[in-house]
Amino acid sequence: MKNKLGRIAAALLAAALLLAFVPGCVNDQKRSDVIYDCFDTVLTFTAFTTDSRAFDEAKKVFEEGFRRYHRLFDIYNEYEGEVNLAKVNDLAGETVKVPHEIAELLELGIECERLTNGRVNIALGAVISLWHGCREDAERDKAGARIPSDEELREAAKHCDIARLRVDTANDTVLIEDPLMRLDVGAIAKGFAADKVGEELKRFGFAFMLNCGGAVLASGNKPDGSPWVAGIDMPDSEGFAASVPVVDSALSSSGNYIRYFTVDGVNYGHIIDPDTLYPANIGAETVSVSVSYGSGYCAAYADALSTACYILDADKGLELISGIEGAEALFILKTGELRRSEGFPGE
Ligand code: AMP
Ligand code: MG
Repeated sequence: MKNKLGRIAAALLAAALLLAFVPGCVNDQKRSDVIYDCFDTVLTFTAFTTDSRAFDEAKKVFEEGFRRYHRLFDIYNEYEGEVNLAKVNDLAGETVKVPHEIAELLELGIECERLTNGRVNIALGAVISLWHGCREDAERDKAGARIPSDEELREAAKHCDIARLRVDTANDTVLIEDPLMRLDVGAIAKGFAADKVGEELKRFGFAFMLNCGGAVLASGNKPDGSPWVAGIDMPDSEGFAASVPVVDSALSSSGNYIRYFTVDGVNYGHIIDPDTLYPANIGAETVSVSVSYGSGYCAAYADALSTACYILDADKGLELISGIEGAEALFILKTGELRRSEGFPGE
């Protein structure tokens, strides 16, 4: 989660989700906090409150919460004295006792695989890591950039059966039955962390918004009663494709247009289609997808669904969304055309 280019790219994506504010009531003050060292992206916390002391306390909850989830869900680095996902991957083949949040996230990951008909599969790590490795190599040596061979990909794909991931949330244990299987939770972890931190922040009683590099979670309305609004970037042009009110819900955006590497003039993005084992949308029609969702683990589901929709084309993605109560989607196509589900909020 720590490469520099990735962080810059994610920062751009985060910046693309511009928060539009309307001034609050006389006494309420807009306050915000930013951290740069988690989930390979920029995380912002914004709230309206008169109480500076409460906000300072809330800042601590925001920063410490995300740092903890970052370490727990990091698949690249282990941390002294902690069992995290890098460790779980490392111990594939053995039953591992894990912190409850890891078991909870993995259980949600299993559910998201079903919900998305296999498009989002947290057990796809063996395949994703081949592409990730090539992207990192390309960042170091552009001229020598290469893509994984079909043989490597086919071999890795033999170790992506999510049925072989066993999670016990009552006892907080995880067993990856296939020793060559690797978990990659990049499609859902930011949303899940936003849900968890957001839940803790609610106790302060003020309206707030979390923007986690592509996943936005809002609680309450601004002091003048108007909703928080997220702007969805129109890639490759100035301005926004849409302004989306986010009311006690989450909005997540996915796309390959920022985080990619280039070989022989072809851009290879970071979202992998489990059918082709190649990045989704190479030369295809979707540039980005934003999904809004409003209940339960709303940011985690929005996160999973935006990744899944990006892999599907707009017709199939909108069909998937229409079968999920409370989910709405907006597709931005290469042609500049916008396609949205009927209830997608905003203009
Ligand atoms: P997002 O930015 O939420 O759309 O998620 C993209 C991240 O999810 C990638 O950087 C990978 O870590 C991971 N990922 C890519 N393709 C898949 C997939 N098909 N299923 C699950 N995770 C994926
Ligand atoms: Mg996602």
